Amino acid sequence: MEFKTIIEPFRIKAVEPIRQTTRQERRQALREAGHNLFLLRAEDVLIDLLTDSGTGAMSSHQWAGMMKGDESYAGARSFFRFEEAVQKIAGLEHILPTHQGRAAERILARCLLKEGDIVPNNTHFDTTRANIEAAGATALDLPIAEGRQPRTEHPFKGNIDLAGLERVLREHPDQVPVVFITITNNSGGGQPVSMANIRAASELCQKFGVPLFLDACRFAENAWFIKMREEGYGESTPMEIAREMFSYAQGATMSAKKDGLSNIGGFLALNDDTLARRCKDELILTEGFPTYGGLAGYDLEALAVGLIEALDEDYLRYRVRSVSYLGERLIDMGVPIMRPPGGHAIYIDAAELLPHIPAHQYPAWALSLVLYLEGGIRSVEIGSVMFGIQPDGTEKPADMELVRLAFPRRVYTQSHVDYLVEVMAHVHSLRDRIRGVRITESPKVLRHFSARFEPVEDSLVL
Ligand SMILES: *Cc1c(COP(=O)(O)O)cnc(C)c1O
Repeated sequence: MEFKTIIEPFRIKAVEPIRQTTRQERRQALREAGHNLFLLRAEDVLIDLLTDSGTGAMSSHQWAGMMKGDESYAGARSFFRFEEAVQKIAGLEHILPTHQGRAAERILARCLLKEGDIVPNNTHFDTTRANIEAAGATALDLPIAEGRQPRTEHPFKGNIDLAGLERVLREHPDQVPVVFITITNNSGGGQPVSMANIRAASELCQKFGVPLFLDACRFAENAWFIKMREEGYGESTPMEIAREMFSYAQGATMSAKKDGLSNIGGFLALNDDTLARRCKDELILTEGFPTYGGLAGYDLEALAVGLIEALDEDYLRYRVRSVSYLGERLIDMGVPIMRPPGGHAIYIDAAELLPHIPAHQYPAWALSLVLYLEGGIRSVEIGSVMFGIQPDGTEKPADMELVRLAFPRRVYTQSHVDYLVEVMAHVHSLRDRIRGVRITESPKVLRHFSARFEPVEDSLVL
């Protein structure tokens, strides 16, 4: 007998209480936070789906590993265990630990990019884009057409547009120092990239003599989707698939706060000896000596274990299934979501759910506030607040108005997901009464982290 219920493939050894609040308390908390969910106190949140970054639960093996952390400044045993784990998966030559993903991006941008360069990607994550633009280069998004259409079903919606990539490589022969593919495609909906697409992009890059790098934050989830959906990979292990994905790349940046199953950490990995030397110098300047890179020895131990655990089949099956379960319930009740559900998150299409709110009143931002107000759920806007500001300071609506519900790894259970379904049904019934917001105060870069807002009418829900 094969049972259908997907259970959490772990039992719980330590618990952390979460706190119920009243709607009135949440309304007050929103006012104090300037209607910006990033500015809330976490203890005022019941279910925190702001991000899956660094929010996961570590295993007993990881905690045990941390006791074995070697805190030597140089040449620590923990570094070599970490390096071995990364090389086992990625097969890349030089492994530079960093405190998180954006540090790897910054170091690479600093050592590789110059003013006027172009960096194509299926879709740049916000910190990747910011680091490229800070170097005076252009971050160019090249998702396939289906990747821009929330309702179109496609098994590998994260794919990069190969024709578009070839055109850029042909038309700007000396301006593209690196091509990126983000697996899975976070900003584009947590959608996977197929092996065929990575392979074809790699061949194009080779033809034009440009290195291909993976933004590998969710390499394990991407490997699982390839196993489930791509012809010829059903019998391969996630490890075998991950190794093949990396075999097409000359380098990678990684936030280990995602599929490293750790609370902090990242790395830059690359084959080019000269570039690696430059990056190591930069690493020493800002992160630390190359065998710890801003991390403690115990962090490196947690990573060495976590990177391998992330490729466990039972874990990946549970992880992807619990996210798609929420997606299916939302589709059943008529909530428009990015389809099919992504690996780490559900993305609600706020433009379609709230057609009465114009882009300049930030419908996705407003919806994320209402999810908190009604149910204590914290999500994140991926829309015109996050992406609507151009490098020259002008404002242009983003392609999509999405609210992302990102799932911390191994943290919430099925009953938490059922609660989310119930809150969503309630918010869906209120949709015509939800109103937009305006910005009252805003920094110039990465404004979503600290801007302040107010409802355009008396309240968020009339
Ligand atoms: C999280 C993330 C990053 C940045 O990593 P940090 O650890 O947050 O600095 C880069 N790219 C993608 C796709 C991400 O999801």
